[in-house]
Amino acid sequence: MSLVDRLLRRLRPAHTVGSPAPSPAPSPLFARPNPPPGASNYVILILDSCRFDSFVKAKPKLMTKLGSVERRWSYASWTAPSHYNLLIGLLPHNSPKNVYASEYYKEDFLRFRDRLNVEEIEFGKMVPGLWLPSYLRHHLGYRTNMYVSMPVLNPSTPVNRDFDDYALMPKHNDVGAMFRRMRFYEDRPSFFVLNTGETHYPYATPDEPENSWPRISGVNGVFKHLDDHVRAGGLVHHEEAPAFFDADKMKELHARQVDAVRWVDRACEELFDLVPNNTWITITADHGELFGEKGYFGHGPISHEKCLEVPFVEGRIR
Ligand SMILES: [Zn+2]
Repeated sequence: MSLVDRLLRRLRPAHTVGSPAPSPAPSPLFARPNPPPGASNYVILILDSCRFDSFVKAKPKLMTKLGSVERRWSYASWTAPSHYNLLIGLLPHNSPKNVYASEYYKEDFLRFRDRLNVEEIEFGKMVPGLWLPSYLRHHLGYRTNMYVSMPVLNPSTPVNRDFDDYALMPKHNDVGAMFRRMRFYEDRPSFFVLNTGETHYPYATPDEPENSWPRISGVNGVFKHLDDHVRAGGLVHHEEAPAFFDADKMKELHARQVDAVRWVDRACEELFDLVPNNTWITITADHGELFGEKGYFGHGPISHEKCLEVPFVEGRIR
């Protein structure tokens, strides 16, 4: 087992390692309002670290049924701040020119009218908490759920606020396990945030034996220096990992991310089959990834446009 994986597993609840995810316990539905009639279920699927060109190269067949693929920009270069941002309702932006940020935020927030099929979306009700799950739960009567692959988003982190069901999944790269945990109900709509790691280093799909995953000593070296609780992907200095920036290796890793997108695309068949008719789905990434450009690999403490460039596609499947 690789060091990365050992670090990963240390954060996961022991009883779930290697076993199927438990069914979510029914959550107490304390006083929450009845949802507006016709309110949609809403699913955000985040392909961790998937940069825009990997998504385009993969030519996904299923995910593109939702709408046209846009090139957007993440507000942050790594997982934790990026998910925080998503959860205040700000999805990756399109870098608009000649507009004040406050105007853009306001307009972007109103996109939730389409996503949720609720006309009376009010940004004012997000104040003062500025937290989308709280707004959905306490003002629109949603059930809220978040399943994550990255330990940096584990259930003890502040991101886990106002969710009915929140889980760090047993494997970092098994989006299908998340789909199988999802439950929809007739009495009220559900909101899901799914963070999946097939597209995260080492770009491995769950059918691939661990002993064939790429081994990069530089990356494992960096993980040794990181606090176990902050598994970021992170920066590798050139002098620490001279073999790391081998152009062929970088090409191979980039190709692996493209293959991982194809895997997730095929897996989406299960998602599209299970969601009820009135479901809006947004598929995007939390940040991009560097594959050797300007001497960078990975994401995190990197200032480079490829670290922010992400795919974005959304709509209803039926
Ligand atoms: Zn991430």
